[in-house]
Order: sequence, then structure tokens, then C-alpha cells
Amino acid sequence: MKNIAVFCGSSFGKNDIYTEQAELLGEAIAKKGLGLIYGGAKVGLMGVIANAALDAGGKVIGVLPRFLQTKEIAHTDLTELILVDTMHDRKAKMSELCDGVIAIPGGYGTMEEFFELLTWGQLGLHKKPVAILNVNGFYDGLIALADNMVTQGFLKQFNRDMLLIDDNIEKLLNKMEKYKAPPVNKWISKETT
Ligand code: AMP
Repeated sequence: MKNIAVFCGSSFGKNDIYTEQAELLGEAIAKKGLGLIYGGAKVGLMGVIANAALDAGGKVIGVLPRFLQTKEIAHTDLTELILVDTMHDRKAKMSELCDGVIAIPGGYGTMEEFFELLTWGQLGLHKKPVAILNVNGFYDGLIALADNMVTQGFLKQFNRDMLLIDDNIEKLLNKMEKYKAPPVNKWISKETT
């Protein structure tokens, strides 16, 4: 992996642990010599992770739609800020630039970006690891939902297992380094689960 995209909240959340873990993740990515790809804003956890990676000497590329430049307040000290026209362009650009994806706590925007990359992986459109840093049990409900999708027959177990999860940054990054995409995709699997 050369570049990791991190999807995260444009808010800070109510517990300091979210900011602390965003800082540690930004630092860890930079210290491993990886580039950080993110949404280009200076607000909330987005700003926190960008600053942490920059402070640790890392390369940070932001991808921001022009119409959000003032709303999400563009970060002006990045290695590179790529301005695009639409939200779709933003996701496409982030996806093109990254070799793996991590979601940390966030809201609807974080989920939207994350699920697109997860489902593209499921369809075999890319082979990149897609991971959740489960800070403070934030994603326990989502993980339970994914398991229920399997139990209820809406998601195949091997597609459920494509989702990498850990509450520890180093362990999560190791899982991502080792990740091998399934040789089959959702539609050519012989599995019946
Ligand atoms: P949130 O998790 O809602 O705080 O949003 C985090 C980031 O996701 C922000 O930069 C949002 O602009 C972005 N976002 C929200 N919706 C979309 C979308 N449909 N496509 C791409 N990015 C989005």
C-alpha cells in the first residue's frame, strides 16, 4: 500500500477518544511512509487527521468539491488539495488515488463514502482492503447489522469477511497489508450462504 484513504466525520464527536484516535491514525500512516487521502476539509476529525499526518512529516492529499470549499473550509496547508466539481467526482478521485480505505467514526457522509468502496470491492471492481477502526465500540451496531445480513441471507459470509475490523491501529494496518481480495466476486461465487 502507498496511499490510504480515511473517511471520517466533519464533526469531532462527543468523546475526546475520537480526536485522540484520529491523531494517532494520522501519525501512524505518516510514520509508515504512507500517504493520506481524505476529503480536504479542515473541520472535525477530517482536520484532525490531516494535521496529525502533516505534523508527522507525511504526505496528505485532500479531495474537495468546489461548492464545499467554504462550508467544510478547505485545508490550505496540505501537500496537495485537488478541487473537483461534484461529490461523485470526489469519491472517484479518492478511490483512484488510494490503495486501501479506513472508516473512523463519522456521520452519514462517512458511511456513504465507505459503503461505496465496500460494495465496489464486493463486486470485484477493486481489490483494495476496506477497514473499520472501531474506536470506542462506535461501529458495534454496524458490525451486528452486517452479521444479521449474513444470518438473514442477504450477505454472503465471504463478503462479510472482506470487511476488516479492529480497535487497534497497528493491528488494523497489519490486516490491511496482508489482505487478499477473494478470487471470486459476489456474482460468480458458487457459495450459497
Ligand atoms: P460526515 O460523516 O457526515 O460528517 O461527512 C464526512 C465527509 O463526507 C464530509 O466531507 C462530507 O462532505 C462527505 N460526504 C457527504 N456525503 C457525501 C457523498 N454523497 N459523496 C462523497 N462525500 C460525501
